[in-house]
Amino acid sequence: MSERSEMNYLHPGEPGFEDEAAGFQTAFRHDAKVIAAVENADDVRAAMTYARERGLPVSVQATGHGLTKPATGLLISTRRMRGIRVDPVSRTAWVEAGARWKDVLAETGAHGLAPLSGSGPGVGAVSYSLGGGVGLLARRFGYAADHVRRIELVTERGDLVEVTAESDPDLFWALRGGRAGFGVVTGLEMALFPVATLFGGGMYFGPESLTEVLRGFREWTATVPEELTSSIGMVPMPDVPGVPEPLRGRHVAHLRVAYSGDPAEGERLIAPLRELGPRLMERFAEIPFADAARTIFSEPDTPHAYYGDTALLSDFPATKAESLIELTGPDAPIGVVTEIRHLGGALSRPPAVPNAVSHREAQYQLMVLSGPGDAEHAAQEKVFAEVEPWTLGRALNFAYGDRPAVRAFHSPDVERRLTEIRTR
Ligand SMILES: Cc1cc2nc3c(=O)[nH]c(=O)nc-3n(C[C@H](O)[C@H](O)[C@H](O)COP(=O)(O)OP(=O)(O)OC[C@H]3O[C@@H](n4cnc5c(N)ncnc54)[C@H](O)[C@@H]3O)c2cc1C
Repeated sequence: MSERSEMNYLHPGEPGFEDEAAGFQTAFRHDAKVIAAVENADDVRAAMTYARERGLPVSVQATGHGLTKPATGLLISTRRMRGIRVDPVSRTAWVEAGARWKDVLAETGAHGLAPLSGSGPGVGAVSYSLGGGVGLLARRFGYAADHVRRIELVTERGDLVEVTAESDPDLFWALRGGRAGFGVVTGLEMALFPVATLFGGGMYFGPESLTEVLRGFREWTATVPEELTSSIGMVPMPDVPGVPEPLRGRHVAHLRVAYSGDPAEGERLIAPLRELGPRLMERFAEIPFADAARTIFSEPDTPHAYYGDTALLSDFPATKAESLIELTGPDAPIGVVTEIRHLGGALSRPPAVPNAVSHREAQYQLMVLSGPGDAEHAAQEKVFAEVEPWTLGRALNFAYGDRPAVRAFHSPDVERRLTEIRTR
């Protein structure tokens, strides 16, 4: 067996083990036999060899935002690999496996450039990009996976390889949208876009307007340009200090907009939304791209428990608004958070270099979140059953839990090809 490298291997009961295993998701937890706290690609190679020699299955964690299958063998913890190099001339960024979007944004913002980042600044940029990646500029530029240029990967055998469209077209296709089962990615190069600021923000409506707002959101999204990406969250707000007074303890609709065109045009585009009902709160402004996710989404950034899934929809018929609110609104028997993201635009077009992202024809993504119990799971499935006729599949990035679902991440032909490439 090979010697341990200089890196830290942590075993249960040793100082630092619990901290290293912990992540953003607290509903599930990694149950590793050993954790490799890697600092660079050589450490990852050593860890892969260590696992192979001992017959341990390998899992990876950067931030724990996307933990679905807890580790049972060796967990490779990439949180120390946070290096980022921006090349403003080629408009690309090299991003290491453990970097979070907030780290990337701090670097790219200085050059007036934007990555295809999403709503959570604490999310890991690498896993997000390999799983698809629906961000603030999604309808204008497509999935983050569509703009990954180069990937560095350590294979199961412990080899470090660079994967590009030229070096290995099959593996390059599979990693971008297929994500798991090909090895451990140590870093990747992504394209950046000349978007220094956004016009964006959100408005909140109270429980009495949820159905009307949802119906209106569906109709409004049919009229907006690709420079505008939006979503609506229906959220039971906790009655606790820190939540703005008008929202505290109320089940609200939170409409979020990111528009990368002229701010005056942005103002014009959002004006019809003000007619949807009495607003509890509203905040729109021109925002530096680096601050946009935090300002627009205001998602909680402290670790918590969540369980949920998505349905990618060919349409969200406005006629379904009422039944959706019955199942998920303030009078629903089990408390859930729902979110509908507007897709389409560039997300529906094939990328310049093909990849494994499926269900591109989807126009909306419905996400349902709750606690992880059986009753909550059943409540979620009721919601998904309601939109079954329009359902194409589910999104890899937004699967929070490990229950089987009838909806598939990939279309059958993509799944077949991914399996062939994994086997190879
Ligand atoms: C608050 C929040 C906001 C989000 N917003 C968005 C959004 O706007 N758009 C979007 O598309 N997604 C979004 N997501 C989903 C997110 O992109 C996925 O959950 C993603 O997998 C998180 O990656 P991570 O590294 O942060 O999490 P981790 O839990 O550390 O990793 C998730 C999984 O990715 C794989 N993985 C991680 N690192 C590597 C690696 N180096 N090599 C190979 N595989 C690896 C592993 O299978 C791992 O279990 C959000 C999630 C949360 C919780």
